[in-house]
This record gives sequence, structure tokens and C-alpha cells, in this order.
Amino acid sequence: MNSQLLAPLSSIQQDGLWSLGVSNYQPVRDLRALCENFYPRGFDRIVWDDGGLNKVSLSAIYNSLQDHIIPPPWLSFVWNKFKVSKFAFTTWLVMKERLLTKDRMQSFQMNVNLDCLLCGIDCESHQHLYCACSYTRTILRACPLAVSSSWLDICAGRPLTSVADPARTHIAYLYISATFYHVWTERNSRMHSPGHLSQPTLIIQRIQDTMRNRLFSCETFTKAARLDSALHSFIF
Ligand SMILES: [Zn+2]
Repeated sequence: MNSQLLAPLSSIQQDGLWSLGVSNYQPVRDLRALCENFYPRGFDRIVWDDGGLNKVSLSAIYNSLQDHIIPPPWLSFVWNKFKVSKFAFTTWLVMKERLLTKDRMQSFQMNVNLDCLLCGIDCESHQHLYCACSYTRTILRACPLAVSSSWLDICAGRPLTSVADPARTHIAYLYISATFYHVWTERNSRMHSPGHLSQPTLIIQRIQDTMRNRLFSCETFTKAARLDSALHSFIF
């Protein structure tokens, strides 16, 4: 019996039967047991080992090779129908907790005062800055739909506390992502320009102006508003 790793099948067949030798080596004994109930055929055929399919397609090979990635639960919240790229990108970083917040700066051995620059009463982290901070909560209260005060809910892609139709839900998602962007911008301005101070009311006004501009130039929104005129009053 040919014992090389790439030995051809023909080297272990003779007269239409397996020829597996008489060795008592355990792997060979296991192989003899495996071959006991079926017989070699007269020809070999290459098949795709995917449920016994005889036809191979490029898509089957691609699907077999690629990792099956489960999308994160916040996907539609971050990349919402009315998204503004810079808002969506910042929100994506928030969901991944990748912004250089003060608690992360400290974990990188950077010497930093941990106090939140927006409220000054707690340690700056993603959870605080985007969920608990009184400055952020003031802005979020102006969202057309109520925003959850649970960081776990937000990370699980459930930032709203009520259910609404898709258009209203995605408008609220846009508002929240705009808030996240402006909160980070305001935080950076205070970090790098001591004395800078924008009140939440000013941020709310900026967000509402940006949203109006965005939505009225968005075909998806104008189509939805044609069918549901109350959408106009929904956005402030
Ligand atoms: Zn704060």
C-alpha cells in the first residue's frame, strides 16, 4: 500500500476492490473499516464538497469561502435612510466606542483630567457623553421621537423608546446621529479652544436647520411627504 500523503486512489485498488494491505497500524485499520461497505468505481470525478452539488458556480465558491458576518444591530440606525455622511461616520465610531474620549486617553497612559467638558460633573466616556450627559440629554429631548436613556438600548440599535413608521423612525435616527456629531464637535472645541461655549439651544437650532436642508433635498423624503403631508410638521 502506497503510504504517501498524495498517493493516487488507484494505488489502493486492485481488480475493482480496495487493496489496503494487512497493516495493523491503527489509521490503516480505521481506513479499512471505513471502506468496508462501499466499493471503488471505475472512474474518478471532481465534485464541489458543498452538500453534494454536482454543478459548481462562482457564487457557491464565494459564499463558501467568505466569513458569514452577522451585521451589528445598530446598522440601520447608523446608516439610516436620510443619513448625512459625517453624522453617520461619527455615530459609527460612537457605536464602536472608538472616539478618543478621556477614559480611553487615560488607558493609553495619557495624563488627562477625566472631567466631562460639557457638564463637568462626571468622567468622560462614550456612555456618559452620548447617553447620560445632561448637555447631550438636553439636545436629545428635542428629537421628534423620545430617545432612550439606556446605553445598552442605544448600542443594541434601539435608540428610540417608541415605535413609529419607517419615515419618522429614520428622521429621528438622523436627529440622533446629528446630535452625536455636534456633541463631539463641541467637546473638541472646548478641549482645544478654552473659553469656547455653545449652549444646547444653539446646537439644536443647527441640527434642525441641517435636517431641513437635508430632508427637503432628499428624494426619499419628498416622496414619503407627498403621501403623508404630516411629515412636514413632524420635522419641527
Ligand atoms: Zn457630561
